[in-house]
Amino acid sequence: MEQQPNHVFSGKIRCGLCGAAFVARKKRYQNGTVNKKWGCFTATNEGTSHIDPMGNPVGCDIGLMLRDDFAMEVLKPLPKPSWLLPSGL
Ligand SMILES: [Zn+2]
Repeated sequence: MEQQPNHVFSGKIRCGLCGAAFVARKKRYQNGTVNKKWGCFTATNEGTSHIDPMGNPVGCDIGLMLRDDFAMEVLKPLPKPSWLLPSGL
């Protein structure tokens, strides 16, 4: 079992909408580039807010992903929140 070192942001970023922790998702492009983005756990796993077949409200409409390279910049003040991107969900 591969043990990954705890990321500096693990468990430290929380969704302002549902309160779930942000989790990292890796996306591999055709050219081999791997881009890691951080997104709300609920939105990542359940999508936008909706009612599931059991009648329970699920999902999250935060609609934002955090680019890992820009996540590093969170530690420093930014002139504008350019690290907030539409998630495309
Ligand atoms: Zn959320």
